[in-house]
Amino acid sequence: MARLQRAETPHTTWCTRDHRCGIEEHRSPDITADEIGGRAWITRVRAGNREYAEIRARIPLHPNDQVARAQLVLCLEIMRELLIEVAARLIRLPGRNRQRAIGRKAA
Ligand SMILES: [Zn+2]
Repeated sequence: MARLQRAETPHTTWCTRDHRCGIEEHRSPDITADEIGGRAWITRVRAGNREYAEIRARIPLHPNDQVARAQLVLCLEIMRELLIEVAARLIRLPGRNRQRAIGRKAA
């Protein structure tokens, strides 16, 4: 039986240095926005030699299934618009090592 071996990566200056970090992945504490009618979290993550922002959200849905499905479709459309807008704004930010992360397929 083959065994997978992964190289351990060192903690960063910003990661939590606890159970949220793994062998190859390091995570910052969550930043929470909850004054918005739902709740959203953003987390800085380094996986291997790449960094990205992980965004999670809890958005209340209508109890009627059809309305909830329409809300989900709308949420996905807005998320697509958000990713497009974030990518456009990140490209314009001054700084070093700007990488276009959005639009790249996950490894
Ligand atoms: Zn770490």
